[in-house]
Amino acid sequence: MKTPRHKTLITEKRIRRRVADLAEQINSDYKGRELALIFISRGAFVFTADLARKIRLPVRIDCVSANSYRGLKSSGKVEIDANLKIDIKRKHVLLVDDILDSGITLNKVIRRLEKLGPADIRTCVLLDKTSKRKVPLKADYVGFEIPDVFVYGYGLDYDEYCRNLPYVACLKK
Ligand code: 5GP
Ligand code: MG
Repeated sequence: MKTPRHKTLITEKRIRRRVADLAEQINSDYKGRELALIFISRGAFVFTADLARKIRLPVRIDCVSANSYRGLKSSGKVEIDANLKIDIKRKHVLLVDDILDSGITLNKVIRRLEKLGPADIRTCVLLDKTSKRKVPLKADYVGFEIPDVFVYGYGLDYDEYCRNLPYVACLKK
């Protein structure tokens, strides 16, 4: 598949700056503590890789996988595989996702991780479509608030392609 006609919504430079800001905030909020960085696969892999390299705390990284989108539309059902390799009991968890949309995915993953007895769970998302929320959920760290448009690139897919675009794009009408 060829990359669809698109325009850049958020440039590489803006992403780089914002990720550095978020990491600074995390470094200061968690000062003197250890962090379990859990990302939601696969969309958050690029964001997490960049964010993690700016974090100057003892950090362990693991992932859970969640799938709700089939093609370009959410199927509404979310499948979660939360088989962690690391133990998060009594640990500080920072859950990282690419985008907060209805909130259903993040909410389900939080509920699942809570069962593993962490000290606390905070959330960090690169993008936030605030207008689409179906469950009341606010992320603790947000990169950018965006309008209700389908986006891809920087880890997010366009029907499984385009995750490797270094910026966030949306379709050109
Ligand atoms: P939610 O459960 O909050 O509705 O959906 C969150 C998940 O849906 C995200 O982790 C992401 O994988 C996917 N998603 C939501 N909006 C978009 C979008 O505009 N583009 C892409 N590629 N995925 C999206
Ligand atoms: Mg996702």
